[in-house]
Amino acid sequence: MTGALLSLPEKLLPWYEANKRDLPWRKTRDPYRVWVSEIMLQQTRVEAVIGYYARFLAALPDVQSLAEADDDALLKLWEGLGYYNRARNLKRAAQVIVQEHGGVFPQTYDAIRALPGIGPYTAGAIGSICFDLPTPAVDGNVLRVIARLTALRESIDKEKTKKDVTAALQGVYQKSACCAALTQSLMELGACVCVPNGAPKCTQCPLAALCKAQKDGSWTSFPVRGEKKGRKIEHRAVLLLRCGNRFALRQRPKKGLLAGLWEFPQTLLSNSANDDDALKTALSFAEQCGAKPRELVRETAYTHIFTHIEWHIHAFLLDCAAMPEDFLWATRSELESTFALPSAFRPCVDKLLASRS
Ligand code: SF4
Repeated sequence: MTGALLSLPEKLLPWYEANKRDLPWRKTRDPYRVWVSEIMLQQTRVEAVIGYYARFLAALPDVQSLAEADDDALLKLWEGLGYYNRARNLKRAAQVIVQEHGGVFPQTYDAIRALPGIGPYTAGAIGSICFDLPTPAVDGNVLRVIARLTALRESIDKEKTKKDVTAALQGVYQKSACCAALTQSLMELGACVCVPNGAPKCTQCPLAALCKAQKDGSWTSFPVRGEKKGRKIEHRAVLLLRCGNRFALRQRPKKGLLAGLWEFPQTLLSNSANDDDALKTALSFAEQCGAKPRELVRETAYTHIFTHIEWHIHAFLLDCAAMPEDFLWATRSELESTFALPSAFRPCVDKLLASRS
C-alpha cells in the first residue's frame, strides 16, 4: 500500500497550507497543549472543543497544575464533554510525567504511548505534531481517506486493517521532512473534504487524481465496515429530590458507565413501563431512600444517547420533608458551578435551575 501513497505529501501539504482552518491548537507545538486538544477532540466536534480547550488551559496551564488539580474542579472543567475517563486519565498521565519524567513531556513514541489514556492514535499525533516523529495518527477520518484512496476491501473495524494502514503511512512519513503537517493535513482532509457523512467533496480534493474511489465513483462502498451492534435501551426514573433550596446528588459507582460522576438518584424501570408505572416506581424509590416525599410532579422526559446504550429518562421533581444522609444535598449554585453532572442529566439541571423553590 505504501507505494500507492508515496506521492501523497507533495499533493496534500500545499493544499493544507492554503486551506487549513485557524484552530487554537494549531498555533502551538507544545506537547501539553496538543495532548489536551487531541484528548478533547476524541468523539467530540471541533466547534464544541474550542471553548473547553480555552477554559481548561486557563485553569490548568501546564502538566504540574493538571497533576495537582482537584478532582471535582477537573470534572467541572470537563462537564458536558462526556467520556469523563478522558479527564481522569489526563490527570493520571500528568502525575506520571511529573513523577517519572521530571515534569517534562516525554519525546519518544513508546514513552508517550505508555502514559495512561494514550493509545496509538494520540501517541502518533503528539509524536508527529510536536516532535516530527514518523508516527502516523490513524483514526476513523484517516482510515476513511486511505480506504477510499486505495479502494481498501478490508473492514476498517479490524485491528489488522488499522495496523496495515499505519505501517503503510509510516513508510510515507519516513520519506517526508514534514511529519507534523502530514498528520494535520490528513486529519483536515478527512474532516473537511473526504467527509464522514454525505458525499465527499472530490472536486475540492488535492488527492482526486490518485483516488480509486473517485475514479469509478465507488465512494459509497468505502470504507468497508463490520456489522454494527444495536444500542441497548433502558428506561430510567430520575428523582429530582428537593428539600428547601437543596437538591439530592449521589456519586455513581467507581466502575462502568459514567464511573464516579455525580448524578441525581435514579432507578431502572421495566422497558414496558408506561407513565403511571414510572410515577409509582419513582414514588416508592423515593420512600425507600427515606426522602419522605410531600409532592411529586412529572418534570420532564427525554432520551439520552450514549455510544452503546440509550437512556429513556422520566424525571420527577419531589418536594421532600427530609434530607436522607445517603445523599449530598447541593445548593443551586453548587449545582451550577461545583459538581460536574454528565450531559445525560443536563435537561434536569436546567429544569431545576429554572424552577422556583
Ligand atoms: Fe475522498 Fe474524493 Fe478525495 Fe477520494 S477524491 S480521497 S473520495 S474526497
